[in-house]
Amino acid sequence: MNKITRRDLIKLFGAGALSTGLMGASSLAFAKQSAHIVIVGGGVGGAASAKYMRLLNPDVRITIVEPEPKYIFCPGSNEVVAGFDTLETLTVDYNTLKSRYAVNVIQDRATEIDYANKKLKLAKGDVLSYDKLIVSPGPDFKYGAVEGYSKQLAEGDFPAAWHAGPQTLTLRDQINALPQGGTVLISSPVDPYRCPPAPYERASFVANKLKETNPTAKVIILDSKDDFIFHDVYLDYWKKEHGLGTADARIEWVPKKAGGHVTKLDTKNRTLTTADGQVHKGDVINIIPPEMAGSFVRMNGLAKGDWAPFNSQDFSTKRDKDVYIIGDSAAADPMPKTGYIASNQAKVVTKAIQAELTGKEIGTPFITNNCVAMAADDWGMTVAETFRYAGNHHAYEESYVMSDPTENPYYRHIRAEVAKNWQRTFRKDIFS
Ligand SMILES: Cc1cc2nc3c(=O)[nH]c(=O)nc-3n(C[C@H](O)[C@H](O)[C@H](O)COP(=O)(O)OP(=O)(O)OC[C@H]3O[C@@H](n4cnc5c(N)ncnc54)[C@H](O)[C@@H]3O)c2cc1C
Repeated sequence: MNKITRRDLIKLFGAGALSTGLMGASSLAFAKQSAHIVIVGGGVGGAASAKYMRLLNPDVRITIVEPEPKYIFCPGSNEVVAGFDTLETLTVDYNTLKSRYAVNVIQDRATEIDYANKKLKLAKGDVLSYDKLIVSPGPDFKYGAVEGYSKQLAEGDFPAAWHAGPQTLTLRDQINALPQGGTVLISSPVDPYRCPPAPYERASFVANKLKETNPTAKVIILDSKDDFIFHDVYLDYWKKEHGLGTADARIEWVPKKAGGHVTKLDTKNRTLTTADGQVHKGDVINIIPPEMAGSFVRMNGLAKGDWAPFNSQDFSTKRDKDVYIIGDSAAADPMPKTGYIASNQAKVVTKAIQAELTGKEIGTPFITNNCVAMAADDWGMTVAETFRYAGNHHAYEESYVMSDPTENPYYRHIRAEVAKNWQRTFRKDIFS
């Protein structure tokens, strides 16, 4: 059992802080001395919250609760699927957060919030007192939306690979083992889901690889939508590079209106059936299921429907003002579910908490998203979005500038370089 000991806490926070807080003093008295910020989830949103909270305030105690010893970034995982990169490049640990930013990382799973007493229960039995609780556990998948699909199948022969890790490698290996002229089926979910361009980026990377290794093979995207971000840029690329629309096309995109919405998986015959009854056979079947807020969020009454609503100015939850929700689990529409957004929401939350702790005004949040995606090594695209807090009736106003398919090809090359550099600097921004 990975219990934090009194000696561990003294090392992290000093003996003075230990006499209160975790040991049970009133949270108000505690907050005046050294507030305890507890964070559920050590992924993009949670880890960014810890680091930026520390940068704002050297005195608060910060604890992350995260079941995994290391974190694997999803950005870059499509490159791993296509064999252009390794999972090791995307994997980070919590050592720098612990040593440089004095963040206490407890390897456990948060289970229950005791709102009345401001305590967080963990799976292994520990109970943490908090003054502020930031929740960023990422999404859960609705496997049941596709009849015949399940978590067990996703962890086995039918990987979703939408949470970077072992499934990413399974999918990579299946694509490597694809028979000559074989078919890869990718089922793209309904909105909202994490990283809107990523299914199309994955399809492009896989097709590019097959062009080299297995040129008569095919990728079919069965889509539950009629449109997607960077649609025109991807279609343009697929036409030029993979003969989209011709009899020999290496990529096919089947939108919802053409019967692309997948409803059923038949594991024995390796087929996907769509809403209008079309049956597609695939040697490799990659179902990206629809998503909802993580189970911790739903079990603790923070979700309304699939996602968790919040007060727009500071991301405090509707359920409790000292509990904050960020990242993919938050009902943050029109903001997309991206790591870039999760990390910027983390900055808004930590500034709001710091303002409250120091008696200052929260201010007006302004959130950006610079989403970068690629179709190939020299074919990148970007969208720069801003979300301006506009008061409670109209929470966020969005404006954006997006790549367009007619632009000078030189810019596509530059955008691909930006995408690659972004991944590296993004990982550093949060974990270094
Ligand atoms: C293929 C792919 C490509 C992507 N590319 C990009 C990109 O280029 N740019 C971009 O901005 N975004 C990208 N994303 C999206 C990005 O990864 C997510 O939006 C981001 O990780 C969301 O952060 P989060 O903190 O909400 O969740 P996560 O980063 O998933 O972190 C959640 C953490 O919470 C932990 N957790 C869960 N439950 C509990 C619990 N009960 N107790 C404690 N801990 C818990 C999990 O173990 C996990 O470590 C991509 C995603 C995919 C799938």
